[in-house]
Amino acid sequence: MSQTREQPQAAPAQPPQFMGFDVQPVLGVRHWSDRVFSLRVARPPSLRFENGQFVMMGLAVGGKPLVRAYSIANPNYDEHLEFLSIKVPGGPLTSVLKDVRPGDPVLVGRKPTGTLLLTDLRPGRRLYLFATGTGLAPFMGTVADPYTYERFASVVLLHGVRRTSELAYRDVLEQDLRAHPYVGEMARRQLHYVPCVSREDFHTTGRITRFVEGDALSTLGLPPLDPATDRAMLCGSQAMLAQMCALLDQRGFQGFARGGLADYVIERAFTQS
Ligand SMILES: Cc1cc2nc3c(=O)[nH]c(=O)nc-3n(C[C@H](O)[C@H](O)[C@H](O)COP(=O)(O)OP(=O)(O)OC[C@H]3O[C@@H](n4cnc5c(N)ncnc54)[C@H](O)[C@@H]3O)c2cc1C
Repeated sequence: MSQTREQPQAAPAQPPQFMGFDVQPVLGVRHWSDRVFSLRVARPPSLRFENGQFVMMGLAVGGKPLVRAYSIANPNYDEHLEFLSIKVPGGPLTSVLKDVRPGDPVLVGRKPTGTLLLTDLRPGRRLYLFATGTGLAPFMGTVADPYTYERFASVVLLHGVRRTSELAYRDVLEQDLRAHPYVGEMARRQLHYVPCVSREDFHTTGRITRFVEGDALSTLGLPPLDPATDRAMLCGSQAMLAQMCALLDQRGFQGFARGGLADYVIERAFTQS
């Protein structure tokens, strides 16, 4: 008697697993310019993070993880993760990562960390967020966090880039965040977003350091920086950080003190080769 047997079903192909990483699908990609793009990734259900932290993120290449540090560019109450990335020509990771498409798997590290935490700052009246390039990423969580607006009466985000096309998330900062159900009202009242472009005509030109050097803050209706009232977070290139820290130190601001609270905290947006 012939019998039709069910053929054993081939198990669906599982993506390879890597210790310390979750393999998550890309949900969307946005190319801001030929130098910068952002990607949205499904959030691992167990991932908890503080706004402003970074994780290791990347791709499996040749069966091995190729990962780099990436700030999480959205608030910790979102159901997804967002990353803002540079495209380094010939860069081991980003020359491949820039071509990912929705559905592609990326690796997301399980240990968020970082130094750009509100809880490390002394109380103050005004919070300055100084960012250059992809250094904006960690502040996208900070400016969408209701706690930021509870702690500071006003929040001034200065983002310096070379060209207007590199002003990533400008639409979010100028519109979406101000209409946001959790923080919209606070952002409308308390957030001051100052995009600065150094190599093209724009309404705010030059480097962001000029806002600390002279009295350029007065053009924004703000008093000069004062350690009695102001706190700062900085993220960007090594050169920008060195210059800004020197300027803040000259004005009496205290950087991260071991075990204590600081007037300003910093994080390098990348390491120089
Ligand atoms: C704490 C921390 C957080 C970071 N967060 C981000 C982030 O949110 N977004 C992001 O794009 N990168 C971020 N980086 C840099 C990131 O880790 C990688 O260096 C970057 O993705 C390039 O990887 P790569 O393998 O293509 O080239 P790499 O070999 O890593 O870098 C090659 C060279 O490219 C330059 N470079 C690297 N990253 C940048 C950058 N972001 N902007 C300008 N020049 C750069 C440097 O000169 C570097 O030596 C962060 C780095 C650190 C240490």
